This record gives sequence, structure tokens and C-alpha cells, in this order.
Amino acid sequence: MKLSQRITHLTGGGSDGWDVFYRARRMISEGHVISELTIGEHDIRTHPTILDAMDLSARQGNTGYAVVPGSDLLRDTVAARIQARTGQKTSRNNVLITPGGQSALFAAHVAVCDPGDVGLYLDPYYATYPGTIRGAGATARAIQTTAEDAFQPRAQQIDAAADGAVSLLINSPNNPTGVVYSRETLNGIAGVCRGRDLWLISDEVYDTQVWEGEHISPRTLPGMAERTLVVGSMSKSHAMTGSRCGWVVGPEEVIAHLINLATHTTYGVPGFIQDAASFALSAGHDLEEEIAAPFRRRRALAVEILATQNTIGLVPAQGAMYLMLDLRAAGLSGEAFANALLDTHAIAVMPGESFGAAAAGHVRVAMTIDDDRFAAALRTICNFAAALAESHAAE
Ligand code: PMP
Repeated sequence: MKLSQRITHLTGGGSDGWDVFYRARRMISEGHVISELTIGEHDIRTHPTILDAMDLSARQGNTGYAVVPGSDLLRDTVAARIQARTGQKTSRNNVLITPGGQSALFAAHVAVCDPGDVGLYLDPYYATYPGTIRGAGATARAIQTTAEDAFQPRAQQIDAAADGAVSLLINSPNNPTGVVYSRETLNGIAGVCRGRDLWLISDEVYDTQVWEGEHISPRTLPGMAERTLVVGSMSKSHAMTGSRCGWVVGPEEVIAHLINLATHTTYGVPGFIQDAASFALSAGHDLEEEIAAPFRRRRALAVEILATQNTIGLVPAQGAMYLMLDLRAAGLSGEAFANALLDTHAIAVMPGESFGAAAAGHVRVAMTIDDDRFAAALRTICNFAAALAESHAAE
């Protein structure tokens, strides 16, 4: 039987640089001790007070169908939080609760792209982006950013790629680069969106993990609230990756249509999860800071360690739980480096190439193991890169 092109062409096919990840997982299952720095998941679990709120809600009977758009309480809490953080007026009717940010990304693209429309995204990119855009029926078109620009996208590059496009997907703080977009970058992006009449889909799931500079939501920029869909999530801010709770924030008309989409696809998010999320968001800044703290510490450690050598370049590590290391001086591709590192030192990192061609010659390090092991792994990576660079120079 024939399957739809939409599903069979969802992923690009071919080598996607994830071999190292699967190899590391296999080695762990065979009993090898591997320093696992591949995937963006906290090494802590969901906070016990959040679990208590979840448990209480479920035991009080909140286990039936939930209201599809999200509970009034959670929609109000998300709206109030966004308004407090950005100053942009936001109400319950601007919010749809979704099963995680991933589902919000898909819903946002379905809302604005017709089949065959072009959806733009920036390379390097979070691995699911092109598949999500294709899954929504659109054609995914990548725009390269460069290491030389510290992966800050330039307005003119976006503009030059915008013919026929209806949307642009951005992510700041950024996975995989750890870069936080500057006000200048965001003003440039907003200008192109207004000039080219593009929807902006702004993935802000790392908005509580900013180590340098400030997080600016482009929805607050002039003329942008009516053309911006913000994607948010409890996953990263509250170590609730498994709870699958996120949102889309946007114009009321878009949210009204997205409620229809949710009715015909996900049928909402479990009520006890929503109550746990409302509790977690109401717990305020201190809890968010507690969850972000290990990454803030490890990022500071990494800056210190990397300052002692000159083979590896550190892409400005301004936010999110990743470091992007520039290894081009070592003379190997990111993929070859990551494979060799796994084989010789039992350290698993993601090749830059798995996030797009723009990150070739880089590796992404997730700061997701305890501080001592993390520091030791990073020192080993530095020594390994220095030795490779030396033999590369001697060739
Ligand atoms: N956007 C980015 C940039 C991510 O890194 C992730 C998860 N790694 C997501 C969205 C999706 O997260 P979730 O579905 O858990 O909210």
C-alpha cells in the first residue's frame, strides 16, 4: 500500500550524524561507562513539590478528559507569566496548552502554512525543525548562519531567502549553539518579517536559561504581536520533559483555530499535568533558578577550562544547556572527532553536522552530567583536540 509523501518524506533521509548517539546508547546498554553529553535532558528529575501537586490533582479525580484548550488556571498562569516577563499584554485567549513544545511547533506551522508553502528555518537548527515543517505539509528551506557571525542570523540573508516563504522559525536561547539573539539581530528579523509579510514562529523553550545578555521575545517588538507565535514549554524550565506540557501564544484568532486543531488531534493535555504545571509556574523565579543553576555552574566551569587552551573555539555560550565547540583547528569533521572521542575516551558528544551544514567542524556538548565528571570530560576533550591539531599541523 502506498503511504503519503508527507510521512515518507518527513525526515530528509541519508546520514544525519546521529550514529554517534546511537552507538553511545548501545555501548551503555552493553555495560560501558560513557560520559553522555549528547541529549538535552537535565540530570535532575522533576521537583518533588511539583510531583506532589500532580499526585494531589490526580487523586482528587482530575484524570478524565481535560478541556481541550487547557485549563483556565494554566492558560491564565501562562498569560500572566508572559505578560510579566515581556510587558506584552497577554490573556487566556492568546494561549493554547499543548503536549510539549514539539507539538506546539507542529501546531504553529499547521496554523500558518498551506501545503507547498515555504517555511524558513535557520541552520544550525534543533534536529526536529525541518521534519516538523514538512510534517505540516510545507517545504522546509534552511538559511545558513555562520560561525564567523557567532551564529547570529543576518537580516539580509533571511531576506534573500524569503521569496515564496510564509513563515520563519527562530530559536533563542538557541539549541544547538547556546547563542542568545541580540536586540539588533531580533530587530533585523522583525524588519524582514514585516517587510516580507512573514509569520514569525519564535521557539523560546530555553527562556529561563540565559547566562549572558537578556532574553528578548520578538513578540514585543513593534508590529510583531499580530504576526508572532511563541512556543513555550515546561520541559526545560522546570525539568518536566516527560510531562509533555507546552504552549503556543499568539493572536486570539490563531489560537481559536488552533483549538480546533487540538480538538481533532491531541484532545488536550492531562488535567493533573496541567495542575502540576500551574503549581510549578506559580512557584516563581526561585524554582526556575534552582533548575537552571547546574547549567549556569557548568557553563562557568567550561569558560574557565577552555580559557586555558587555544585549539578549541567556544561559540559565545550565552544560554541554554549546551556548548558549541569549534574544532576546525583539529582538522577533523565534527562527526569524525565525535566518533574518535567516543572510541578513545568514552565521551559522547553530538557532531555539529547533525544540526546542519553550518555547524560542520563543531561538536555540541550538553552540560548534563555532574560538575566533576563534566569538568574532567571537558579537559579530556581539550587535550584530545590539542593532540589532533598538533598532528594535523605536522602533516
Ligand atoms: N525546541 C527546542 C529548541 C528544543 O531543544 C526542544 C527539546 N529538546 C523542544 C523545542 C521541544 O521540547 P518539548 O517538546 O519537550 O517541550
